[in-house]
Amino acid sequence: MTQYLTEDAIQIRIDGNNLGKMSAMEIDLRRQLVRFGRSMHRLGYAPATAGNLSVRMDAHRILATPTGCSKGLLKISDMVIVDTEGNKLSGFRNVTSEIGMHLAVYRFRPDVHAIVHAHPPVATAFAACRKPLDEPICSEIIMTTGVVPLAAYATTGTDEVGASLEPFLPTSDAILLANHGLLTYGCTLLDAFMKTESVEHFAKVCLLARQLGGAVPLTKEDLEKLERARMRYKQNAS
Ligand SMILES: [Zn+2]
Repeated sequence: MTQYLTEDAIQIRIDGNNLGKMSAMEIDLRRQLVRFGRSMHRLGYAPATAGNLSVRMDAHRILATPTGCSKGLLKISDMVIVDTEGNKLSGFRNVTSEIGMHLAVYRFRPDVHAIVHAHPPVATAFAACRKPLDEPICSEIIMTTGVVPLAAYATTGTDEVGASLEPFLPTSDAILLANHGLLTYGCTLLDAFMKTESVEHFAKVCLLARQLGGAVPLTKEDLEKLERARMRYKQNAS
């Protein structure tokens, strides 16, 4: 990679492709998409070309992974910039076919700056069986992501997906997609990615607990105490 310093941006050239000028912020976001794409692939959350990630660059632009690419092999030059309607603004490739799902989340949740969509096998098995991960059996998941609802089945790549998410967007940061996979989002890509990890771990615990005869759910009083602890935790973490 060759970098040429200019007044307010950096000229980027990779493998003979001139990517034009980029801010340090954009370069960092592209690198993060590569890094978390690789992590998703390595953990088995995104086999073959499955899964996609995006991050909000500003009020009008979204940087997203391209369609038809392994998340383990992405390069920073593969990323695509679209506007909030999904129109391509720049990029050598075409944007993920599931960009509409990302845009629906960004529209409803101005606080969200990054989105991860993956097919982690255990969480996806719950989605395939149309079972939400809503049993209050682990204090950790309640403290972080919260229980995970199940959105109604919708055809991938259509506006149906965004509509299926709407009931859960105001209150959930992680949603199972029926017969499809998992969607998580947060203030950064790291935040969204860690929610994917947490939900997949929770799904494994739920599966094992069912095999052991069923977990003992937390009581209403336990949950109220946890909610107070969660608020303290959030304040300290911020
Ligand atoms: Zn998908």
